[in-house]
Amino acid sequence: MKCVSCKDMGVDCPWVGKARSEEELVEMSRKHAMSHHKDWWEETGSKMSDKEAGELVKENVREC
Ligand SMILES: [Zn+2]
Repeated sequence: MKCVSCKDMGVDCPWVGKARSEEELVEMSRKHAMSHHKDWWEETGSKMSDKEAGELVKENVREC
């Protein structure tokens, strides 16, 4: 499985996403950010392209 956590992405939050593929993790991270990190989402996340959002998540993904 592949994991990514908010902490890995520099956010003080205990959330950890787990999925089979990086693509799923990107999607999960987006949904999480949208509902739990509204300020960050409105300022930064919503302005990111799919490619940028994907890169942000993928560079922090680890095997778990
Ligand atoms: Zn979070």
